[in-house]
Amino acid sequence: MRIKSIKELNLKDKRTFLRVDFNVPLKGGVIEDDTRIEEALPTIKYALDKGAKLILATHLGRPKGEKKAEYSLKSVADYINKKYFRLAFVDDCIGESVKKAIDGLGSGEAILLENLRFYKGEEKNDPTFVKALSEFTEVYVNDAFGTSHREHASVYGLALKIKDKGAGFLIEKEVNALDKLIVNPEKPFAAILGGAKVSDKIGVIESLLDKIDKLFIGGAMAYTFLKFNGFKVGKSLIEIEMLPTIDKIYKKAMDKNVEIFLPVDHLASTSLDGQPIRLDNEDIDDNLMGLDIGEKTIEKYKRALKDVKTILWNGPMGVFEKDQYSKGTFEIANFISSLDAFSVVGGGDSVSAVHKAGVADKISHISTGGGASLEYIEKGSLPCIDILKY
Ligand code: AMP
Repeated sequence: MRIKSIKELNLKDKRTFLRVDFNVPLKGGVIEDDTRIEEALPTIKYALDKGAKLILATHLGRPKGEKKAEYSLKSVADYINKKYFRLAFVDDCIGESVKKAIDGLGSGEAILLENLRFYKGEEKNDPTFVKALSEFTEVYVNDAFGTSHREHASVYGLALKIKDKGAGFLIEKEVNALDKLIVNPEKPFAAILGGAKVSDKIGVIESLLDKIDKLFIGGAMAYTFLKFNGFKVGKSLIEIEMLPTIDKIYKKAMDKNVEIFLPVDHLASTSLDGQPIRLDNEDIDDNLMGLDIGEKTIEKYKRALKDVKTILWNGPMGVFEKDQYSKGTFEIANFISSLDAFSVVGGGDSVSAVHKAGVADKISHISTGGGASLEYIEKGSLPCIDILKY
């Protein structure tokens, strides 16, 4: 059992359903970042070159099963038409109008369907919705890595139903890079995890402890760890119910000889909008909340990261959306890019930080899926990638 590459599929004149991830950030109908479109281009171009009748399908935002104009893919179709290649658009994703539009496609032509999430059946993997998609699909290709941890109709149910199926180049690229973290990673291997919640990352932390040598914690997550260690955390965002889990993490880390690094100083404030205050050690006063890692922490983390050969980073070190609390995150982004190591960055905020810092080209792999990449690392695969195997 293995996954076929799109290169092994016969696409010539075949109605080929290509599930892409065009879930781009849109403001007032304007695309703010087209990375996700760019990432899908190699697979799209390949399919068009091979003479597929290409049906591009994606979700956009969270319309929750309703047709909402602000989530229409029409603006994405217009953008692609202007910037990349000729693309038809149909204002639905199932039914007669869609079938008719697809019947009109010639060899090497493409159409974009309207937002899959305009139907509740997409997220519910509803068999009726799956059947409606299957009615015009001859060959199925998944290239939506960022959605492949969710068993939705277009990534799961449809793939199960179609005989001729495979993975696109983006999925192949993600899997190859993430496998390097899972299977015999070069040592020392460090993980830097930040962001808001320990609970979101607990699965991946537990599984990473089997592989890594050093774990660096930043972001709000760090305060729950500090609280566990008996420090004062003031008004910082913590998850008190996670304390027993952190106890388990420390026990496993000890067992596996993994060193856990926590902040030793902070930038804090009375509120998210308050003036930043430097705190010189771990403790945070009752009236303050920790909002970024401090200078001493940055230097300590850099020193301990210097010799690593494999590095995974997911999640900001502080409230990096605000300039005054973004330094920790940007310093880490810059430092990772300077290392002679295999580096993987995932998660919207960390990815955005490496782009803003202008160091994206020095990162070995930037994952297009935050949650998906963490789940892949945790479990060694994703449900919608597994079902492509046959
Ligand atoms: P996540 O989606 O879990 O990676 O979390 C990202 C969010 O964590 C960002 O919106 C950050 O602003 C937030 N965050 C990072 N550090 C802190 C902190 N010290 N306090 C509150 N929120 C934080």
